[in-house]
Amino acid sequence: LVEAVNVTKAFGDNVVLQGVDLTVDPGEVVCLLGPSGSGKTTFLRLINQMEILTGGRIWVGGELIGVEERNGRLYVRKDRDIARQRSRIGMVFQRFNLFPHKTALQNITEAPIQVKRMPKPTARKAALDLLDRVGLADRADYYPAQLSGGQQQRVAIARALAMQPELMLFDEPTSALDPELVGEVLAVMRDLAKDGTTMIVVTHEMGFAREVSDRVVFMDGGVVVEEGTPEQVLLKPTQERTRTFLSRVK
Ligand code: ATP
Repeated sequence: LVEAVNVTKAFGDNVVLQGVDLTVDPGEVVCLLGPSGSGKTTFLRLINQMEILTGGRIWVGGELIGVEERNGRLYVRKDRDIARQRSRIGMVFQRFNLFPHKTALQNITEAPIQVKRMPKPTARKAALDLLDRVGLADRADYYPAQLSGGQQQRVAIARALAMQPELMLFDEPTSALDPELVGEVLAVMRDLAKDGTTMIVVTHEMGFAREVSDRVVFMDGGVVVEEGTPEQVLLKPTQERTRTFLSRVK
């Protein structure tokens, strides 16, 4: 579903990614681990076209993102085309970025109504189902400020799911939460994984990575240092850098 080949990204002189290759199959849950500044967030933002590649290529669902190839040449895609590609991907951020002046329900129905032109009653019904799925059926009419961080993050997940994405990207979705609220968000993500959702998850939650992911990818210094099953990478890492990282986070 996702294929990244030799992806590089620089911000000015700061080379953040220096040739990342990564493949994610449909239904796979891949956890990205690595020290702060290793380029994990940047990599997710590239997949979702919130940043532009410096080099390399990324395919999502068989389509090159951002550019298209015609007669052996690359052309930048039209804005509308990019919006269509982005609508196939759901992203959940570290900070719950819900619209503060909209209720949980309105946050979820916004994109399906505005972008997909879904009829309001249909969008509302789907949103209520999603709220139920994330355990918040009774909070539909609450505003973000009236919800806990964990509840807001679950609404953010429901909002991303409302667009029926093929791929879900999670960028440290629990790192801004109070410890007692982390579990409820991870539980929702665990359910999504069980249902076969394709997910790339940047996380420092080792328990989640170990139990839920099909594959763990360890990044450091803008490259993939090591990847494999959770057991291989977390229990029997072959690279010194992975071992050092794990000894610090465990
Ligand atoms: P963290 O766990 O702290 O989020 P990360 O592995 O996700 O770290 P990134 O957030 O991708 O790392 O950042 C990698 C590097 O890219 C950092 O040095 C950061 O300063 C730089 N960077 C990220 N975004 C920008 C930007 N928009 N402009 C300039 N530099 C940026």
